[in-house]
Amino acid sequence: MKYQGSCHCRLVQFEFESEKITSALQCNCSICIRKNAIMSRFYIEPADFKITKGQKTLSIYHWGDEVVNHFFCKNCGIYPFHDTTDYPGKYRINLGCVEDLDCKGLDILQFDGKHEL
Ligand SMILES: [Zn+2]
Repeated sequence: MKYQGSCHCRLVQFEFESEKITSALQCNCSICIRKNAIMSRFYIEPADFKITKGQKTLSIYHWGDEVVNHFFCKNCGIYPFHDTTDYPGKYRINLGCVEDLDCKGLDILQFDGKHEL
C-alpha cells in the first residue's frame, strides 16, 4: 500500500510503500519515552520511501553513540521518521504522521530499548 505522511505544519511531506500496516512498535528508551511515538514496526527500504517536500526543513538530533538520525521539522518540531548511520535512507516512521491511519488501533509491540539498547 502507498502511504502519505507529514509533520504537523506540513512543510515536511513524505510517502512510502509497505504492506498494510497492522502492527507498530513503541520503545521505552530515554528518547522514545519522551516522544511517546508509535513507530512503524519495520524499517522502510530506501526504494520504497521518498521525502516529497521539505528536505531542507529537516534537522537531525543526535545523542549517545550518534548512530540514529532523529529527524525533526525545524518549524514545528515534530519527529516524522529516523534512520541510522549504518543504513542511511532506511527509515522507521512515526505512524502518528501518517494520513488515514488509526495508529492507536494497531497491535502495538513494546520494545524494551531502555535495557536492550
Ligand atoms: Zn513541520
